[in-house]
Amino acid sequence: MAQTNSTLTHLECGFCGKTYDPNQLLNLCTECGKPLLARYDLAVAALTLTREALQRREPSLWRYEEVLPVQNDWAQLRLGEGWTPLHHARRLGESIGCPNTYIKDEGLNVTASFKARGLVMAVSRAYELGARELAIPSAGNAACAMSAYAAAANLPAHVYMPKDVPNLFQVECRELGANVTLVDGLINDCGVKVREGVAAHGWFDVSTLKEPYRIEGKKTMGYEIAEQLDWELPDVIIYPTGGGTGMVGMWKAFDEMEQMGLIGSERPRMVTVQSTGCAPIVRAFEQGVEHAELWQGAKTVADGLRVPIAIGDFLILRAIRQSGGTALAVPDEEMLHYARVMGSQTGIFPAPEGAATLAAQIRLLEQGWIKPDEQVVLFNTGSGLKYAHLWAQ
Ligand SMILES: *Cc1c(COP(=O)(O)O)cnc(C)c1O
Repeated sequence: MAQTNSTLTHLECGFCGKTYDPNQLLNLCTECGKPLLARYDLAVAALTLTREALQRREPSLWRYEEVLPVQNDWAQLRLGEGWTPLHHARRLGESIGCPNTYIKDEGLNVTASFKARGLVMAVSRAYELGARELAIPSAGNAACAMSAYAAAANLPAHVYMPKDVPNLFQVECRELGANVTLVDGLINDCGVKVREGVAAHGWFDVSTLKEPYRIEGKKTMGYEIAEQLDWELPDVIIYPTGGGTGMVGMWKAFDEMEQMGLIGSERPRMVTVQSTGCAPIVRAFEQGVEHAELWQGAKTVADGLRVPIAIGDFLILRAIRQSGGTALAVPDEEMLHYARVMGSQTGIFPAPEGAATLAAQIRLLEQGWIKPDEQVVLFNTGSGLKYAHLWAQ
């Protein structure tokens, strides 16, 4: 049993800065209730995590081992997560007047969405630190990814889903061995059930940003984009934002990479896209405030974007503003429409969340906010196959 090359040193609250020993199971900051972020000895990491060394590493997100939290080889769960292709979508780009359009296709991940990146890290680390049972409230993809990695680690998994979640997601979780409970209510009602189970049975809660490591898995998207573009970050990244771990994670990754000398100080402009049926981050961005209020009556077919309140709101808004980015909402009908535009011009069948990034790019090109010669990376965060019911005739 070997040690990994992880250089994890401590956890730090993203809001009040309180620090913690990382070698214990932790959820939120005990002082202020905000998310904890993992910190590394980046000077040590930089000695081995070099551009040259990376060329010889395995094609998965574990290639960035120095800046990931897992300490022991036996705890690194592997089902083929990460290192997804970044396609230059030439035909699509030319048709919309932005030839340097790229698509990071996250639909190829385990359980067909990028939730695998976050959950492989949360579950590996919980397993390493001795969690005995895992629980999650989820409307879809996160529950599937958690179920897969819990099965890989042989840990019991408890999933609470709103009862109107498409059958496919329930089936996938069950066949992966999870205990699935359908709740007559919304995702926040599922969260209440999970908290009851945590209190009664000592389950470990792996909700978005309520434990420190999902973001560590998601940040690898930032490392991959840099590596795949030969260490020149794009001008713009468009990301469909729900809980925001991807935005926050990539922003953290860029800082780490700069401190390790892998990239310079230039940053992409980070764009958040949400649905007009649930756009709390867009509203807060427009109002110029630090925290996003609860979005009443959240409704969208893009399950990943149905997040009426995000615990990491201030971190998402910080990344958008510091990068000179923006936030916008698109209606569900546009997402469904642009899925075919993307699909028929690239061969990638996107989730509605992924199609939303194309709708946003076109709007921003029309407004002149994106210039035709700029390099833009769109995130297709999941496979359209899981949402096929939305287009079925
Ligand atoms: C969860 C999810 C999102 C939102 O991701 P966050 O990192 O939580 O903002 C976007 N797309 C899909 C397909 C998702 O499952």
